Amino acid sequence: MKKNPLLITFTMIITLFWSCSSKQEIMEKRLKKFISYYEAKAIPLSREAALTSWNANISGTDTDWVSSEKAAFNLAKLYTDTKALSELKKIKVSGLVQDPILARQLVLLYDAYLAGQVDTSLIARRLKMETDINKKYSSFRALVNGKELSDNEIENLLKNSTDSKELQAAWEGHKMIGPVVAGDIIELVKHRNVIAKNLGFNNFHEMSLKLSGQDPAEVTAIFDELDNLTRENFILLKGDIDTYFAKRYRIKVSDLQPWHYQNRYFQEGPEIYPVDFDTYYKDQDPVKLAAAFYDGIGLNVDAILAKSDLYEKPGKNQHAFSTDIDRAGDVRTLDNIRPDVYWMNTILHELGHGVYSYYNDMTLPFTLRDAAHAFTTEAVANFFGRLAKDPDWMAGMRIIDQKEREKIEENCRKSLRLEMLVFSRWAQVMYRFEKSMYENPDQDLNKLWWDLAEKYQMVSKPEGRDMPDWATKIHIALYPCYYHNYLLGELLASQFYGYIKANITDNMSFIGEKPVGEYFKNNVFMPGTRYYWNDMIEKATGEKLTARYYAEQFVQ
Ligand SMILES: [Zn+2]
Repeated sequence: MKKNPLLITFTMIITLFWSCSSKQEIMEKRLKKFISYYEAKAIPLSREAALTSWNANISGTDTDWVSSEKAAFNLAKLYTDTKALSELKKIKVSGLVQDPILARQLVLLYDAYLAGQVDTSLIARRLKMETDINKKYSSFRALVNGKELSDNEIENLLKNSTDSKELQAAWEGHKMIGPVVAGDIIELVKHRNVIAKNLGFNNFHEMSLKLSGQDPAEVTAIFDELDNLTRENFILLKGDIDTYFAKRYRIKVSDLQPWHYQNRYFQEGPEIYPVDFDTYYKDQDPVKLAAAFYDGIGLNVDAILAKSDLYEKPGKNQHAFSTDIDRAGDVRTLDNIRPDVYWMNTILHELGHGVYSYYNDMTLPFTLRDAAHAFTTEAVANFFGRLAKDPDWMAGMRIIDQKEREKIEENCRKSLRLEMLVFSRWAQVMYRFEKSMYENPDQDLNKLWWDLAEKYQMVSKPEGRDMPDWATKIHIALYPCYYHNYLLGELLASQFYGYIKANITDNMSFIGEKPVGEYFKNNVFMPGTRYYWNDMIEKATGEKLTARYYAEQFVQ
């Protein structure tokens, strides 16, 4: 009897289907087994690293720093396991893991283990080079007219002096760190490229972005979009800035030099529309204000504040940060609160990070209980931090009265706009410089730096200058390939703002707006890192990350 060909095909399909799905099951089971093994190790190790670092930042004692370094090392060691990586690689290459929650964990775990595969001697050499450079930055003091000045003193001088000669001396004095570290940095950049090439990347910049889940082409496209959206307006604004400074220093606009912009890098908006925010906050309690505000939008922060360390102490870290100790509700912030606008902004900012961690989805597996990306939590923090200088918010929180609000409104808007535009042009320089430097560290970097500053910040190079001014920016040496995230965070903060304005409320002080808290909780915090960051943004705002809303908010 002849077999029915249709029946054969049908049986084949069934068999194929059965074997596929069972293969899939087997592979997913294998991954689940790996994840249990991983979590049993990673959960206690990360908790220990976070806790010991927290303690060291508060006490500042050598013993606490030693414990913190040890715990950080133990956590990092977990990811050096080559057997674990080869198991993950086999599972990944099979392409059989279909369950979205498992598949996402596979991507993140694979990248984490891949990043851990650098030869320990290469890591040790990198750390040694970084420590040596760090020491040179730390011990450097600018020599200005025979006097040694710290970075803060240089910044103060640049901000307040109106004497062009003194400004030039301060700016040039500070730039003398450049030749001290430039050679070491180029060597370090080449060493980082060796590390990247060993892991199969073209250079360290590409590796840093890819292993943190960013596609360099995607980031560059956003920077190009932002450049196009801000260029025309920045030219106009730069004209206003230059007119203001020419008058301030009693010189011609054409004689303005980089030292005339009140800052070492022209990275902050100069104070050309003055509003004295500190006077409004001098009798306020920033913690109480922030707690009341967050409670009003349905994101109570009492549990975070109860575990936090809020005020100055001897030996304590002088800055501020937020930390998620266990991804299970132990969230804290370290601050050094004073009654002024800086700390009002900072506590709103840090609690923005705090609520992102605290209100995550506890039913997600450990690996996914994290922000979609470092810059998405920065975006939420910036979104709330900006309120400290928002006259509507200040009036709504009864920090100022309506009359005062009307008086300062225009200048507040203008100075925020200036701040944002100036920062965005500066971030372009940083991003493009780092990208190009890692692509070719042997090029004329002094020229590259000033070409970019002229193009994006529209600041001209002092005539005949050929110095490694790029090497004076510590981030380039010691916090590599991260700076662009600050700008992406600002863009996303504006995208949230635009979405909320169009869809949730027109009360843009957000005071008492529970739907705003609800929106963030459901669409940004709860998803954790279960989606690629740009997919999370698309789900939360209807669009992928775009510079349009930032331009809408600050360029018009
Ligand atoms: Zn932050």
